[in-house]
Amino acid sequence: MSELNDLYQEVILDHNKNPRNFRPIENADKYADGNNPLCGDKLKVFATLDGDTVTDVSFTGSGCAISKASASIMTQTLKGKTIADAERLFDQFHRMVTGKLDIESEENELGKLRIFAGVLEFPARVKCASLSWHTINAALHGEEEVSTE
Ligand code: ZN
Repeated sequence: MSELNDLYQEVILDHNKNPRNFRPIENADKYADGNNPLCGDKLKVFATLDGDTVTDVSFTGSGCAISKASASIMTQTLKGKTIADAERLFDQFHRMVTGKLDIESEENELGKLRIFAGVLEFPARVKCASLSWHTINAALHGEEEVSTE
């Protein structure tokens, strides 16, 4: 686990400093505002779709290092995926950070997202890590606002 923790620190710092896909998408097909009042994280996510496939996804906003890094990695993960893929990943991610999915023993497609398993030890951070996922999930389902409270 300590190896995963080192990687976690490194990846969080990198994505916080240089967030990927950190820009608005003009004429996005889907977008939503996500709000985590507990920490003060406010993100907006954007997605462009071709049929059921997410062809572009991005985010803007401000928040703590964990919320930004999580959003950054989420955008990298979802580009090119279908809405069904996104729903499955959201479910797996959410179960992982709330302790309901054991990434070592249960089958999952989380890949790089596994580094966020570490937030399980910090309950206040779970909402930071999952905010962008709740927000894109809302956006893909046509809701334009989501709050973690
Ligand atoms: Zn936060």
